[in-house]
Amino acid sequence: MNKNSTSILIKNGTVVSSSSQVKANILIVDGKIKKIGDMNISEPEWNDITEVIDASNLLIFPGGIDAHTHMELPVMGISSSDTFATGTRAALYGGTTTIIDFANQNRNSSLSHPSSQTEGESLNHTLDKWFKKAEGNVYTDYGLHLSVTVINTKTLDELKGIVENRGVSSFKTFMAYPNMRISDDEIATLMREANKLGGLVTVHAEDGQLIESLIEENIKERNISPKMHPLNRPTIAETNAISRLIDISNKEQLPIYVVHLSSADGLNKVRENKGAGPSADAGVSAKAKIILETCPQYLVLDDSKYLHKDPLEINKFVMSPPLRESGISNKNQNELWKGIAEGYIQVVATDHCPFTLEQKKLGINNFTMIPNGIPGVEHRLEILFSEGFLKGKITLEQLVKVWATNPANIFGLYPQKGDIVVGADADLVLFDPSFKHTLSVKNHHMNVDYSAYEGFEVTGKCKCVILRGKVVIDNNGTLKINQGYGKYLHRNRCLHY
Ligand SMILES: [Zn+2]
Repeated sequence: MNKNSTSILIKNGTVVSSSSQVKANILIVDGKIKKIGDMNISEPEWNDITEVIDASNLLIFPGGIDAHTHMELPVMGISSSDTFATGTRAALYGGTTTIIDFANQNRNSSLSHPSSQTEGESLNHTLDKWFKKAEGNVYTDYGLHLSVTVINTKTLDELKGIVENRGVSSFKTFMAYPNMRISDDEIATLMREANKLGGLVTVHAEDGQLIESLIEENIKERNISPKMHPLNRPTIAETNAISRLIDISNKEQLPIYVVHLSSADGLNKVRENKGAGPSADAGVSAKAKIILETCPQYLVLDDSKYLHKDPLEINKFVMSPPLRESGISNKNQNELWKGIAEGYIQVVATDHCPFTLEQKKLGINNFTMIPNGIPGVEHRLEILFSEGFLKGKITLEQLVKVWATNPANIFGLYPQKGDIVVGADADLVLFDPSFKHTLSVKNHHMNVDYSAYEGFEVTGKCKCVILRGKVVIDNNGTLKINQGYGKYLHRNRCLHY
């Protein structure tokens, strides 16, 4: 070993990977996982160990990959309140060591549909803008997805360079929002073109036409209070969209990834469609045609938040799709947890898109003016563990898959990221499984003045976080790195598993 190398030994922890839980030591050399297991103390490498971390009574998870975030996203003349710096710092406190954020292509005309009737900015220019925001500021490692809002030859000609030279191999499309949605044919075109390059298309699956007609009707009748938000975006908007995606996927025989699934009915559409789900023996399969992502908010919150008398309280939870009803049997949440256990839902990401109360006030009397989104990048692991594993809804291995391994596989980061295996980046979370605490704006690290989970009691806490072999959050909760430590990840082909 050369004398500039650094190594860390993590002793006596329980290593939780996507396939097993085992009491073991982990040797990290130069930022990579070198060995896992019982190690002979006389090995020469041990002379070079610079740090020994005792992980007795702790679980060790792979560092999380949050495949869906929106840091400083411009909307309606404002920006989401977490910058790449503040948002990724908060992510680290929650054990997330990699984010994949969305760069959104601007249309030159805001209301054209289909998109071919408008022009869009160049995709490379879109990426330039996002890199400018991120570079030198990010604490986690990071990748970018690219939201494509205009399908024309100019856009399609840029795809190859985007994938090969800029390391962006996943694309987002919208079926909702008049200023962003594209037609089903355009989605299929993008799927074919992206697939040739090893790229994957993701979709915001809500039926835009249905939503726009409900909104128009409500505006006409002056029903514009915030409580109309969930009524404008009913579950059927999600199921309609997913049905159409199943048709597209079956016709093209290509996979597609649905972001932020919110409802049991949406999940059932995929369950009913033989061939669109996972293979029997794996949580993730190349045969999967419809890959589903959900978010912690749909797993633990419900639409009772929209009954509040104070419209600002409602606005805190205005996001699209909206929170769903719990009902007598809490069907939506229970089915989504089951969907994870069955392997239909392969990713849990946060859709972190925070706005301050001052920003949420913009729509206090008018649902059309509410910036959509909630904060959550910090709480994904603790919610999955406390509400999912401890309540018997998912196993620890299933948790690891939706938390890190599957997003790494799906979005071209495996085996560098996503699991605790020899040769991978040493991105690790040392987690105290019995520590009880309460989620609150008083102790979170996100740059937003409310918590979507205020008062939520959880068991289990991230105690120490390691990114590429460096302790980035220590046992005392102290941040040990400078802004800009996070590296850009040039991603490989998607669905590489
Ligand atoms: Zn989003």
